[in-house]
Amino acid sequence: MAGFGDIIGQEQIKEHLQNAITTGKVSHAYIINGEKSSGKEFIARIFAMALQCESRDGAEPCGECHSCKQALSDNQPDIIKVIHEKPNTISVDDIRSQINNDVVIKPYSSKYKVYIINEAEKMNTQAQNAILKTLEEPPEYAVIMLLTANINALLPTVLSRCVVLNMKPVADEVMKKYLMEEIRIPDYKASVCASFARGNVGKARALATSEEFDNIKNEAVSFLKYVQEMELHEMISAIKKINDYKMDPAEYMDIIMIWYRDVLLFKATSDANQLIFRDEIQEIAKVARRSSYEGLENVMKALDKAKARLNANVNFELTMELLMLEIKENG
Ligand SMILES: [Zn+2]
Repeated sequence: MAGFGDIIGQEQIKEHLQNAITTGKVSHAYIINGEKSSGKEFIARIFAMALQCESRDGAEPCGECHSCKQALSDNQPDIIKVIHEKPNTISVDDIRSQINNDVVIKPYSSKYKVYIINEAEKMNTQAQNAILKTLEEPPEYAVIMLLTANINALLPTVLSRCVVLNMKPVADEVMKKYLMEEIRIPDYKASVCASFARGNVGKARALATSEEFDNIKNEAVSFLKYVQEMELHEMISAIKKINDYKMDPAEYMDIIMIWYRDVLLFKATSDANQLIFRDEIQEIAKVARRSSYEGLENVMKALDKAKARLNANVNFELTMELLMLEIKENG
């Protein structure tokens, strides 16, 4: 079963779309704007399914009727997902053949014809001008959903004809509950994934189910535990591991950052309940005892500096070596 109730967070968007359905005031064009993997397509699909449902309960799709069953298996002929051949461009031909020439044909079996365009920012100018024609004079039954991670790439003329719905970051607590109940991961892991995903449901789910993330986390934590006793060659081999296992250095550094945030928090409050790395409490307490506030601040600064260096494409090994030495000295 899938319905509005299965959308995590995004209360305003849910309310707006459910309201449109129950009052019958459905707009011809919507933009859902939000980060990659934040769940835009899921929302668009629920909305489309609800619009086409033959026995809706309020705004919720029934999940049982012919239309819902088709929608759930991606076979509803009046829910059209626009596809594109070139990976980075939605061309004018894509828009003409799949929307402009198609929208003039009445719905096959439903009340509406819903078009879903993922990565709408990939429409080039000609494609956007082409879709504008349909947005200017849409047939009664047409609903066009533009999903985008970059609303700035859309022409003002297109924007002005659409209802814009902005995705919001999902609160950590909501995310955590979802991960624990739906993905069935333990409390501690859910906290780590939730704080990493920064409000992005798709990212949280990917982290929660990714072996790679576990590897990165374990590597980073084992480095942090032993950094004080490590010789330079051991640091270099730890850095080499990050490279060899093709870990994302940004994620590795994020973990180090969360660790030291925990250390700072524990040093200030002595409260273990608020920590993300609760299961490493003894280690966190040890670091909190031996490090000064000034030293911890230096570590945080070094992390910021290292991130900026990597973004500027400074040599990875060198950047990490400097960071690790700074951590060894201050952390
Ligand atoms: Zn239904």
